[in-house]
Amino acid sequence: MASNPLAPPWLREPDDANALVPGLWSRTVHRDEGAIVVGGVPVAELAERFGTPLYVVDEAEARERAVEVRSAFQRAFAEVGSAARVYYAGKAFLSIEIARWMTEAGLNIDVCSGGELAVALAAGVPAERLGFHGNNKSAAEIDRAVAAGVGALIIDSLQEIDRIAEAAARHGVVQRVRLRVNSGVHAHTHAFLATAHEDQKFGIALADAADAVARIRAHAGLAFLGLHCHIGSQIFGADGFAESAARLLAVHKELLAGGDVPELNLGGGFGIAYTAADDPAPIETLARSIAETVAAGCEDLDIPFPAVAFEPGRSIIGTAGLTLYTVGTTKDVTVSAQDDGETAVRRYVSVDGGMSDNARPALYGADYSARIAGRASAAAPALVRVAGKHCESGDIVVDAEYLPGDVAPGDLLAVPATGAYCWSLASNYNYLGRPPVVAVRDGEARVIVRGETEADLLARDAAYENGSTPR
Ligand SMILES: *Cc1c(COP(=O)(O)O)cnc(C)c1O
Repeated sequence: MASNPLAPPWLREPDDANALVPGLWSRTVHRDEGAIVVGGVPVAELAERFGTPLYVVDEAEARERAVEVRSAFQRAFAEVGSAARVYYAGKAFLSIEIARWMTEAGLNIDVCSGGELAVALAAGVPAERLGFHGNNKSAAEIDRAVAAGVGALIIDSLQEIDRIAEAAARHGVVQRVRLRVNSGVHAHTHAFLATAHEDQKFGIALADAADAVARIRAHAGLAFLGLHCHIGSQIFGADGFAESAARLLAVHKELLAGGDVPELNLGGGFGIAYTAADDPAPIETLARSIAETVAAGCEDLDIPFPAVAFEPGRSIIGTAGLTLYTVGTTKDVTVSAQDDGETAVRRYVSVDGGMSDNARPALYGADYSARIAGRASAAAPALVRVAGKHCESGDIVVDAEYLPGDVAPGDLLAVPATGAYCWSLASNYNYLGRPPVVAVRDGEARVIVRGETEADLLARDAAYENGSTPR
């Protein structure tokens, strides 16, 4: 049978629509008598104990990836005679438990709000291992970060220089800071765009960096660490990082005339595979390539090699997560294909979650993949669109995927690679409670963030009187 004409060009009809494509799933995931097992726990057991939708985090995978990514950068920079510092970007997925995993794996953590700072501190992460980001930190956030002793605040505007200096004076400390610059390089997946100035809200124009650093250095209460940039997300190659590093190093050299610049921070953005069509370069390859580029750049400019910092989020936690859903309805929708009067059928498979637990498809057209999780099936593959249950036609979980054609109500569906930017972007749209997060490891499952109940959802409604009937 020919592929469904409604399938996007990148989606190949698989020989086996049960196959778990390597790279998309955490490494403990396999099928046992047809059913998916993660962290040693069968998905049917997870669904039974915790319900669906359910965020499942493979603890071993998260911890191992954290160590692998940190070691990749540290090895690569050691080989060229420097050092790398790795910060886990907490905004990808942060809870007390996850913060502890990252700290135990030897990573520092970046936060970008008072709330994220509170989680990291509640986890017992030493404040000096934290970086604090944000283009509009409140006075209260700055005060709290400085009082807590965070390792560095990343300055994002000229106003923040004085605000942080004032907080440092108030607390009688010298606060370490980085300066975020807008390098004009923006990268995503296979492409990067390099302009003189990028039209976005973050950072200070590279051309204005020297003035800003002079202002920073004029404050005795601020210690300047170096420049910072973050060029994008879901990046598969090293070219964008090479271009931004080259641009930053030229300014970094200028800054050396006025004092020490011990560090260069190149941000995060390393990509992962969400579908079989994605082919990100391994982190070891990227780390080596970036280390060599920075080494060559320093040699050309005849400057000392700074320590280089990175801030990966998705590449650490993305594949450690999967989301379990239950199929509720299926519907074959006949679609007119092109102008030739031909039609094709798209099967809508609706699940019990959607854009409230994974906003990325609706927010940026992100692609995901899916598998029937509770069983393997010999049925011929059918093109499906996995939709959520929200009152929004853009409520898509997986835009296009081939699943066994007998997918039916009651089937458990697993969507891989939902560890990053799913829980952290979750909402209560349509008054759905946000699902619990369950960590699995060595056959054990435990809740690390409990799910929301209807009582949680009503609790903040000022007119709600403890379950009393409405007047
Ligand atoms: C979002 C962000 C990151 C992490 O990005 P990933 O794509 O998850 O690696 C790192 N640094 C900054 C400043 C960010 O805003």
